[in-house]
Amino acid sequence: MAEIGTVGVVGAGTMGSGIAHVFARAGFRVLLCDVEQRLLDRTLGLIRTNLGREAAKGKLQEAEIEPALARITPIIDREALGGAEFVVEAASERFDVKAEIFRALDRILAGSAILASNTSSISITRLGAETRRPAQVIGMHFFNPVPVMALVEIVRGLATSEATFAAVRELALKLGKTPVEVNDSPGFVSNRVLMPLINEAAFAVMEGVATPEAVDQVFKLGMAHPMGPLTLADFIGLDVCVDILRVLQEGFGDPKYRPCPLLVRMVAAGWLGRKTGRGFYTYGT
Ligand code: NAD
Repeated sequence: MAEIGTVGVVGAGTMGSGIAHVFARAGFRVLLCDVEQRLLDRTLGLIRTNLGREAAKGKLQEAEIEPALARITPIIDREALGGAEFVVEAASERFDVKAEIFRALDRILAGSAILASNTSSISITRLGAETRRPAQVIGMHFFNPVPVMALVEIVRGLATSEATFAAVRELALKLGKTPVEVNDSPGFVSNRVLMPLINEAAFAVMEGVATPEAVDQVFKLGMAHPMGPLTLADFIGLDVCVDILRVLQEGFGDPKYRPCPLLVRMVAAGWLGRKTGRGFYTYGT
């Protein structure tokens, strides 16, 4: 497989911004694609701030910031992704959105290019089946915040080839990440195990077993978790948690994954966690 020098990142939100950051920092040229210039401008500003933070902590030389930023080219027109040897999609967690992107990229990219998704729970096998290159479709699941978290879950779809797996594993290592191999299954390992924990914590609050603070204390002090499950749920976004639980419920056909009614109500109220200033806790002013 050809050496990967230029990567595409589709979706410049929370995850796409972090993914573009780590690729640019590692010396790759990055084509960062989103649907609006306003979003791209905001994301580039955020990456600049975050690279500055890393420099302040001594993780990066000050002189490396501008060259890293210069390696990122923001684009709206995804035809410009044609020069990328590898593209990772980090767009909204909806199958129809991702399927449309995969079909378009399959047409735009060179035949040898690899197409990855950062999806938290959507089937890599299904995304691969949208393309004429299912052997070159794979999951590359980063964790938030991407520049900080060491793990990348590398998800093999049913048709993913060994060569694709090896190339993406190598990419993760070049980013300084630790790749962990998993097979395609709803929620992979991370969310299949984490979401039922968050859901059960929400049930405990809904049933008056304990306050959110008490639930989180149990996990921080009793299980040495750096943050409790409800603090983590607020960080991930309660809407994202509910969406993933629904994918698990549908994927396994098992009611044990049904989202806790309290979570569903909070999402309906717009209490999505940190990003809206209110979830299990309140944030900011
Ligand atoms: P986000 O909403 O912050 O960003 C998604 C971005 O995709 C938005 O900027 C949106 O404009 C863009 N987008 C939507 N359709 C597009 C299209 N057709 N072409 C180009 N851009 C498009 O979402 P996020 O939290 O960054 O999540 C992105 C993906 O990463 C999802 O699949 C999610 O499940 C996954 N993920 C999220 C987290 C997390 O903690 N937030 C962790 C791991 C994986």
